Amino acid sequence: MAKNSNHNELGDLGPQISVLVPVTFAAGDSAGFYDYLPPKKGGALIPGDVVRVPFGGRSLVGAVWGPGQGGVDKAKLKTITEKIDITPLSADMRAFIEWVARYNMASPGAVLKMVFNVPGALEKAKPQRGFVLTQGVEPSVRMTPARKRALDFMQGKPAMLAAEIAREAGCTPSVISGLFKAGALKEVAISTEHKWSVPDHKLPRAKLSSAQKNGAAEICSRIGNNNDGGSVTLIDGVPGSGKTEVYFEAIAKTLEMGKQVLVLLPEIALTAQWLQRFSARFGVQPALWHSDLGDAKRRETWRACSTGKVRVVAGARSALFLPLHEIGLIIVDEEHETAFKQEESVIYNARDMAVVRAHLGKFPIILVSATPSLESMSNAKSGKYHLVHLPERHGGASLPDVELVDMRTQKLPATRWLSDGLLESLKKVFDAGEQAMLFLNRRGYAPLTLCRACGHRLKCPNCSAWLVEHQTGRRLQCHHCGHSDSMPENCPNCDASHKFAPIGPGVERLAEEVKERFPNIRVTLASSDTLSGPLKAADLVKRIENHEVDLIIGTQVVAKGYHFPLLTLVGVVDGDLGLAGGDLRAAERTYQLLYQVAGRAGREQKQTQKPGKVVVQTYMPDHPVMQAIKAGSREKFVKAETEARQAMAMPPFGKLVALIISGSDERGVDDAANRLARCAPNIDGVQVLGPAPAPLALLRGKHRRRFLIKLKSNILPQPIVGEWLAKAGMNKSAPKGKHKGPQSVRVQIDVDPQSFM
Ligand code: ADP
Ligand code: ZN
Repeated sequence: MAKNSNHNELGDLGPQISVLVPVTFAAGDSAGFYDYLPPKKGGALIPGDVVRVPFGGRSLVGAVWGPGQGGVDKAKLKTITEKIDITPLSADMRAFIEWVARYNMASPGAVLKMVFNVPGALEKAKPQRGFVLTQGVEPSVRMTPARKRALDFMQGKPAMLAAEIAREAGCTPSVISGLFKAGALKEVAISTEHKWSVPDHKLPRAKLSSAQKNGAAEICSRIGNNNDGGSVTLIDGVPGSGKTEVYFEAIAKTLEMGKQVLVLLPEIALTAQWLQRFSARFGVQPALWHSDLGDAKRRETWRACSTGKVRVVAGARSALFLPLHEIGLIIVDEEHETAFKQEESVIYNARDMAVVRAHLGKFPIILVSATPSLESMSNAKSGKYHLVHLPERHGGASLPDVELVDMRTQKLPATRWLSDGLLESLKKVFDAGEQAMLFLNRRGYAPLTLCRACGHRLKCPNCSAWLVEHQTGRRLQCHHCGHSDSMPENCPNCDASHKFAPIGPGVERLAEEVKERFPNIRVTLASSDTLSGPLKAADLVKRIENHEVDLIIGTQVVAKGYHFPLLTLVGVVDGDLGLAGGDLRAAERTYQLLYQVAGRAGREQKQTQKPGKVVVQTYMPDHPVMQAIKAGSREKFVKAETEARQAMAMPPFGKLVALIISGSDERGVDDAANRLARCAPNIDGVQVLGPAPAPLALLRGKHRRRFLIKLKSNILPQPIVGEWLAKAGMNKSAPKGKHKGPQSVRVQIDVDPQSFM
């Protein structure tokens, strides 16, 4: 603890070293830093060094943060086991970890855990034993035909595995080991590391339109500029205006500067067409980072990011925590997407944290969207963000015509969902040999199953949610917890037999209606049930491009990004669906989704002379969202929505924080909520709403209560919430998995909530 003791072998860190350990503590807890004694062997440590340490009977990998904090009896301190041979975490990255923890009120240890979430990546892949000819050595063994074959084969060959030589030379591996023992072959380590091809920024590019060229030039002027300080550029352009082409220029420039690039995409598993375009532009695929990667690939990718072998990574939100030590640009495509928000463990918004990452690393970041969030638009308006605006579709294609169908006047029978107008439009498209898409954001067959005898609705046992029928009566699924069951024969309430009726349509049921109407049409379903990975998505894209499909019935997984030349009609089956939830962003989300879906139609008007058409079925044709969609006027919608938010001091004109209190014991959850209510902050400009049962009052067997804290935008929420939790005695708890009785109640803090469920 004595600060002036002998630290010649420790650089500036002193005799005790503070190590951040990747363990999760309760929300609001700042723990994760522990003092250790320096390792017995090896040189001095520096901040950022990755070390192995003993922790609670386990061995964990942590990061050196600085001099020890002291205050612990030296005799009780443990010793760092070893330094791991990997690039240290940069000062930027360490500052980022602290920032993410502070802002989202998570423990730094929990954030570090997201960085070090790839066990095994820290270990170099073990080289394998290979063999080559020993030059100029006369083997002192009896020469057999097999041995001769092996030696002849190895003439002029690089090192190979014994099994490979044996296979090629037609002998057994024991022949190889015999030759090795005799000195005719010698051992050489073979690296098993994947060769990462380097994207080529010099390949020919598309000839840019002048708007594209100006946008690209403006952004490129900020790349590699050391004084950039983390500039944010919003590329706001209609679908098909060439936003991707423009940011490809920025990627090329960054690669030219010798820096790494991170591209965050909302649904990396479904970006087949994006990957094709990337390889067409840069000659190779980027490294990918998403939850479907196998363990080996995950380890390799993580390590190659850290060593700099990977130059471009495209990934889902967690890619933000990859150790890209030479990063020089981040792109967040479809920046308005909710998929960037992580709702579990550390709750954070990857888009917002990416802006912070760029700021701390002093490199530029580009946010991209056809329907930017109100937050980003207001930052562009105030001049905080640079704006590149691409108002026109490339090649002069106009945006599709939008027709609203007022469903109140349609009087459809209860088992039909397609209006005459929409059916008519479909028929025209099929007759013309073009393609159509029906959009309905509901997976499965029917969203609700009802007993016709007693009215009982089939409910998930673990959640406040209806069970969704899949595959025509065969399975019931909960879309929140994954609970799955076969359809019961008798009603659990009144025991009536075979009285269940499906209520409402999912995409599967819609396919039935379409097939009745158009028996010869080739229909394909596209939802997360059928598109469960990149391969399936790529296959679907190919089938649509090859015109093996006439009609796509899809959920939001097909709403964005795709470009299908023959697709000329998009039908939105239930335009009101997104408005039902009534949360803060319902209108904004619905507008974004409908706009994106509409953008799928008629994308190659110029080449094909086929303008696109969009038919939206709605019970609220006068709603501002529907009116804006019809008028094709985003400005109108944005203005109305902005004014409404401003009037209510809602984001981006105010701040929100949500607290979610959950646990399996309902009494305990209510007690905790009431305790929090009693010491709620009483501060000017801070309003506490709640506690209220969450809309999903029961989720995965846990009861849930919510508080919503509304703050004036000039008030920092974190200290207020932190103090509140401390006052209620709810800011400290043991690391996960320890001392967690059945009565335990969990408090989650959601800064800038996106979901109000
Ligand atoms: P966005 O990202 O705005 O939706 P894209 O970059 O995907 O737009 O462009 C839409 C389509 O137009 C793509 O097929 C793209 O290849 C094409 N395109 C865009 N700009 C150009 C250009 N300058 N030259 C040739 N094709 C272009
Ligand atoms: Zn459930």
